[in-house]
Amino acid sequence: MGTIHDTLDIVRHRNPGEPEFLQAVTEVLESIEPVIERHKQYRDAIILERIVEPERVIMFRVPWQDDRGQYHVNRGYRIQMNSAIGPYKGGLRLHPTVSLSILKFLAFEQVFKNSLTTLPMGGAKGGSEFDPKGKSDAEVMRFCQSFMTELHRHIGPDTDVPAGDIGVGGREIGFLYGQYRRLANEFSGVLTGKGLGWGGSLIRPEATGYGCVYFAQEMLKSRGESIEGKVCLVSGSGNAAQYTIEKLLQSGAKPVTVSDSNGFIHDPEGITEEKLAWIMNLKNLRRGRIREYAAKFRATYYEGQRPWGIACDCAFPSATQNEITGEDAKTLLGNGCQLVAEAANMPCEPEAIHLFLGRKILYGPGKAANAGGVATSGLEMTQNSMRLPWTREEVDDRLHQIMITIHKNAFETAADYGAPGNLVVGANIAGFVKVADAMLDQGLV
Ligand code: NDP
Repeated sequence: MGTIHDTLDIVRHRNPGEPEFLQAVTEVLESIEPVIERHKQYRDAIILERIVEPERVIMFRVPWQDDRGQYHVNRGYRIQMNSAIGPYKGGLRLHPTVSLSILKFLAFEQVFKNSLTTLPMGGAKGGSEFDPKGKSDAEVMRFCQSFMTELHRHIGPDTDVPAGDIGVGGREIGFLYGQYRRLANEFSGVLTGKGLGWGGSLIRPEATGYGCVYFAQEMLKSRGESIEGKVCLVSGSGNAAQYTIEKLLQSGAKPVTVSDSNGFIHDPEGITEEKLAWIMNLKNLRRGRIREYAAKFRATYYEGQRPWGIACDCAFPSATQNEITGEDAKTLLGNGCQLVAEAANMPCEPEAIHLFLGRKILYGPGKAANAGGVATSGLEMTQNSMRLPWTREEVDDRLHQIMITIHKNAFETAADYGAPGNLVVGANIAGFVKVADAMLDQGLV
């Protein structure tokens, strides 16, 4: 009772057809084995069996109308995974690949990530398989309003505070917030990633990417190195990718790739600030495809491929889950890659992680490396509660400090549990212990 083996059997049996959820649970549970062995109270209280079961899963119909008056229906989800240390918190994803399995894996990861941030936030995730690509602003608005019409009764500033994720940026958060405000008749910090004029925080848009580079700098420092001059591969071209590139440039590194779901571009001369501004305009305003970069600047476009075959010092996967396979990992290692920091969630397949850890390169798992996004969402909640905005410098300093603390905590915990340098073990155990202890303190929750 209460062992990792038993719990994985239960998860397999209870969640058929949910491979991503099983992958995330397996990865976490296998890495926290030392803490379960060391502490009998977790086994006695079957904490593992409890922690893998969401507190609540909400699934709902989202009907909407397109610009031609045709009717459509999508499925909306909110997975409220764990609220032992604070209100549920986690993003909303709008992408055709969204499924119950993917959102459960993300919600599960979110619990440990939020715990690591040092802020009081539980874990959740939500979204829909609705595809915002190719839709007009009015269609996206009608979808968001319909989605919030159901979601609003399940969330609140002290209950559950959603944010953005893939396909949910400033535009979508605006539509969602407007509808919440009308239905609830309150102006509160119920969503994060809000516009600056109506409760948003400075640095929130930058936070995931900036935080990931701050984390990478800490990893490099632990080996007496720095990011300056390093050739970096970045995948994706959305929020996480854009600000990873911006911070890499500010830190003297040389980012040479970006991608979208159709392919990637390689710019051997390096993506500069001017080129990044062009990418931001392309992706955030014109909503075009990354292949246009190659026509505009001197770069090569690779249709249907990912950037991992390009020689590099560091890789920053910033698009989506399972985008680095075992084969990709072999290629990266063969080309001399010495650091992988995950701006995306679970971008590396288990075999890839195994290879990185085996070769003892610097590997920063997403729940630590990309925790800057949700941490700054936590800072947005604090400012909303105080009704006082902080300056850009103040938020950035706090973000930087949080990333340093997360790295230190994961690094020291890994050493404490006999796996020095293994940030997967360190981050998972450090995140787990705080939540598990809160659950024990609170009785049968
Ligand atoms: P965006 O929607 O802004 O950008 C996503 C990018 O990834 C786009 O370039 C998109 O290409 C690409 N992409 C998405 N799905 C796929 C796919 N199945 N295959 C290939 N490429 C794909 O999302 P974010 O930048 O916010 O999110 C990126 C990653 O970062 C996700 O894993 C997310 O969970 C994670 N993350 C984000 C945080 C945030 O604050 N935004 C916080 C922590 C983690 P296309 O436009 O063609 O779809």
